[in-house]
Amino acid sequence: MDSKVRVRFAPSPTGGLHLGGVRTVLFNYLFAKHHGGEFILRIEDTDQTRFVAGAEQYILDTLNWCGLTPDESPLHGGAYGPYRQSERKAIYTQYAQTLIEKGFAYYAFDTPEDLEEKRKQVPNFQYSRAHRMEMKNSISLAENEVSELLKKNTPHVIRIKIPDEEEVVFTDIIRGEVRFDVSTVDDKVLLKADGMPTYHLAVVVDDYLMKITHAFRGEEWLPSAPVHILLWKYLFGLDKMPKWAHLPLILKPEGSGKLSKRDGERLGFPVFAMDWSDPITKETTVGFKEKGFLPEAFINFLAMLGWNDGTDKEIFTIEELIAAFDLERVHKGGAKFDYEKAKWFNQEWIKKTDNKILAELLQPFFDQANIEIHERSYLIKVIGLVKDRCHLLTDFITQSSFFFAAPKSIDTAAILPKWEEKKQAFFTALSNSLKEMKGKPLAAELETHFKTLAATHEIKPGDLLLPLRIMLVGGKFGPGVFDIIESIELPDTIARIVHSLQLLSEK
Ligand code: GLU
Repeated sequence: MDSKVRVRFAPSPTGGLHLGGVRTVLFNYLFAKHHGGEFILRIEDTDQTRFVAGAEQYILDTLNWCGLTPDESPLHGGAYGPYRQSERKAIYTQYAQTLIEKGFAYYAFDTPEDLEEKRKQVPNFQYSRAHRMEMKNSISLAENEVSELLKKNTPHVIRIKIPDEEEVVFTDIIRGEVRFDVSTVDDKVLLKADGMPTYHLAVVVDDYLMKITHAFRGEEWLPSAPVHILLWKYLFGLDKMPKWAHLPLILKPEGSGKLSKRDGERLGFPVFAMDWSDPITKETTVGFKEKGFLPEAFINFLAMLGWNDGTDKEIFTIEELIAAFDLERVHKGGAKFDYEKAKWFNQEWIKKTDNKILAELLQPFFDQANIEIHERSYLIKVIGLVKDRCHLLTDFITQSSFFFAAPKSIDTAAILPKWEEKKQAFFTALSNSLKEMKGKPLAAELETHFKTLAATHEIKPGDLLLPLRIMLVGGKFGPGVFDIIESIELPDTIARIVHSLQLLSEK
């Protein structure tokens, strides 16, 4: 590439960050880092009516959790700031003015009531060449009328004048050549009555001023592309325009339509990166982070939604992704979201992550579950025993709470059908014999002891293991029974066996 690669993620701070948004961040980031370029975060907050308190901070927190740190942003600063569009208001006015002077835009003085009236009269009304002359604007009105209205500070907007019969053509990195017939495009507002630009003007001006070389965004923005391309042509010249890539959607698990927050609620999985609490409705939407995903896994499965390196490799570190990422390998079609597969990635990453690091990450989850951890080293040992069974960090709670306290309930119903007197006698003997043992016996020693005792009682060890497990952990789960005994040690083991025998005798 001739000039330094500069890409941007340009969210409007209107709420939680959807999976698709984070994948857009990721592809921007990977592309930038692959080419030794810069990744910019620009906050597109010109629509004051959609402003949501806390949403910008949430975006920064999400990027931080994912480890996708911008080189320039409202927080990190940079040479092309400010990075919040609401702070750049004065810049846009001058470009809107240039467009008017060149005849590519015009003033429109229609009041909201005028527009409402017109919408009532004309079904599917569009402010476009078909109706422009029927409206109150600097094309339809005489020059002196326009100057008079402007002199009187009559509220007005500035609209782009979409040309007659022009086809807009551009090359999208993912889609190839894209053609638009602009006859169906309306004369979009560029500058609003409050002097704020709309997204269309601001995005073009800022991509230019921030020297953006490649603009990647969700496919839902494709219909806006012709307006942006016309603005590039009118203001700066198409040779300066960034290269575009419109990223395919993340689809519902069923395969059709964009994955929405509602799909997550319906099917019981997160769609936002982190928990999002709507400041107005107070409604909280669960995020991947709080659900128990590792950021490495989150990033990894997002990268694989619509991209691969051409081999079967699925597990990538961020460094490997940076090295292998190639936008041209992003599929044109949408990628179906598969929550089970996402959990598989997380499990693989849990296995890969050092137990000490997991212990640190898990501490808040244990705190939240009111499970007291007395010794970090004990937690680390337990993590080693259960990690292969955990898809989510939250699974560690269910898979290991019995290591820290006796189970709250014992599934005696699962023992009873095959319960018999000689088993009762065996477990009584087992608890008595364990009382005789000294110190902290290891799993292997405990197993030999158990098997020898089973032989004396003429019962197959296999018939005794399930009841023993249920007595210790409460149900049919958990790692090796003797590893559990080794960890919880003799006094707790004996207490749990005695307690279960008591429960069974009451049935
Ligand atoms: N502000 C737009 C959004 O909210 C950005 C689209 C673009 O990247 O051009 O997604």
